[in-house]
Amino acid sequence: MSSAAPKVVILGGGLTGISAAIHLRRPWVLFEREDHLGGLAVTRERDGYSFDRTGHWLHLRDAGMKQLVGEILPDQMLQVERRARIFSHGATTLYPFQANLFGLPPEVVKECLLGVIEAKLQPDASEPKNFEEYCLRHFGKGISKHFMIPYNERLWGVSPREITAAWCSRFVPLPNLEQVVAGAVGANAGTLGYNATFAYPKRGGIQTVARALAGRLDPAQVHTRSSLDQLDYQRREVMVGGERMPFAAVVATLPLPELLKRMPGLPEEIETRASQLRCTTLRYLDLATRTRPLADWHWVYVPEQRFPFYRVGIYSNATASMAPPGGGSFYVELADRGPVTEATVRASAQGLSEMGAIVSPADVLFADAREIDYAYVVFDENYYAATREIFAFLEAHAIFPRGRYGAWTYNAMEDALLAGREVAATVDATMAAKSSGEYR
Ligand SMILES: Cc1cc2nc3c(=O)[nH]c(=O)nc-3n(C[C@H](O)[C@H](O)[C@H](O)COP(=O)(O)OP(=O)(O)OC[C@H]3O[C@@H](n4cnc5c(N)ncnc54)[C@H](O)[C@@H]3O)c2cc1C
Repeated sequence: MSSAAPKVVILGGGLTGISAAIHLRRPWVLFEREDHLGGLAVTRERDGYSFDRTGHWLHLRDAGMKQLVGEILPDQMLQVERRARIFSHGATTLYPFQANLFGLPPEVVKECLLGVIEAKLQPDASEPKNFEEYCLRHFGKGISKHFMIPYNERLWGVSPREITAAWCSRFVPLPNLEQVVAGAVGANAGTLGYNATFAYPKRGGIQTVARALAGRLDPAQVHTRSSLDQLDYQRREVMVGGERMPFAAVVATLPLPELLKRMPGLPEEIETRASQLRCTTLRYLDLATRTRPLADWHWVYVPEQRFPFYRVGIYSNATASMAPPGGGSFYVELADRGPVTEATVRASAQGLSEMGAIVSPADVLFADAREIDYAYVVFDENYYAATREIFAFLEAHAIFPRGRYGAWTYNAMEDALLAGREVAATVDATMAAKSSGEYR
């Protein structure tokens, strides 16, 4: 291939884009809108406190990814046993709620247990139509009422009736009856769920991982502050910073709606499908305390509406380096999607104090309001048909959407790294087949 031949253009330098660049064998060039790589895997500092874009705990399952992270950050990662909790009915209990009812008021435990037994005694073999039905079928009325439904409504920002059941099989632990009963009497051994341990950098927050990975890339091929202006799929050209560049293939990791709105001349049916894509935003606080947190957990789920937040985490409980000596750094994820007010900040400090997480509301040194525009893709009834048609159209034009928002999905950092590795292999193979004439 001559050096002037079109390259693989990678749009977006989050973990998916970085991983794609690391694994591609074909020549590539990467364009990132921000002034740094990492996407959501980024860390902000203020006055000696460090904050990720809310909890970014790295759960590694794949042997290749474990090896890669071990190579780029030798001896710089901690292996942490997750301390995840639920706060409800004035009690702090172990995660997941459904397998750890012990510690809740007896009448709540009874309601939850009876609900599970009822659900198990009258199994309904039909496919649940939505996530609420899924919860009622698997966990019964009590657990659904006290945790599953209110918590998920606050997390997703939409009713669980609007969400399909399909997204959750990997992320929602499903204990059997014996585990539920054991958990209700405090006799559950071990932890359930996909994230019983996590890896986290000793210093520098999660951005340390993104930086180390990005260190593997040829800087000459990486262009930050370079936002995609337009993608001409018919002429196979991208326009970035006013300049046109032909592409051999595109790995698109920017949010799917942002890609599609930069593609003029889309067929009407694709425009219609694009208008069906839904996602919720997230508002949260970077919150610092003067003294050490009283709570020892890494994060806590809060289903009750009287609290302004639905999940809170403490970075400095994973590694003390995230706060100055004796202080604490928190993330506070807010249920309300509207602008953050002084009253919300006050209620958050009050809530943390009430949960016994901090000494007193006055211990809060600062709380900065932050936002993530694209946070949770909504898996509603249009989701599967819309994404299937859009992806088929894009791939027919050598555009490969990948990553959490490129592939319009719910995933974790390791999935992003795996998606980058997979798309590199796919693009390399597709282009090899094309140049040998097998591919049309
Ligand atoms: C609230 C929250 C909590 C999470 N917690 C965890 C956790 O604890 N553990 C875990 O493993 N995962 C967690 N995740 C998931 C994790 O953040 C993602 O899986 C991963 O970071 C996705 O990487 P990505 O590269 O696909 O997307 P992104 O990180 O979003 O990267 C996309 C990139 O595209 C760039 N871009 C956008 N528009 C343009 C444009 N026009 N031109 C060029 N570039 C553009 C963006 O600036 C960004 O850098 C969490 C996610 C959220 C939202």
